[in-house]
Amino acid sequence: MTIDALRCGACSRVTPAWSLACPHCGTRPLAPVKISGRGSVYSTSLVRMAPEHLAAEAPYLLVMVRLEEGPLMLGRWAGREEPEIGAPVAVARPDGRTAWFAPGDG
Ligand SMILES: [Zn+2]
Repeated sequence: MTIDALRCGACSRVTPAWSLACPHCGTRPLAPVKISGRGSVYSTSLVRMAPEHLAAEAPYLLVMVRLEEGPLMLGRWAGREEPEIGAPVAVARPDGRTAWFAPGDG
């Protein structure tokens, strides 16, 4: 499932869709682009003390994913088992500025 992102016209790097300027070279504006939504697990974090609006869902797992296009993206984990660091994952569904990730096909 593709997700929205932005590509810098100066350095060609991809950045999350809410960036105001390229975090690498400062160029603005940035051009909308669709990216793969695939990547690998960079880190995980089990949330036991959740913010109030998510308290009923705790404990839940967050995953930081290194997307194929380069940026890191934080999301919720939709899989059953906690993923290994480096495991291939993909966006299962976007969720505002984050996404739900599930095991990917690499
Ligand atoms: Zn740039």
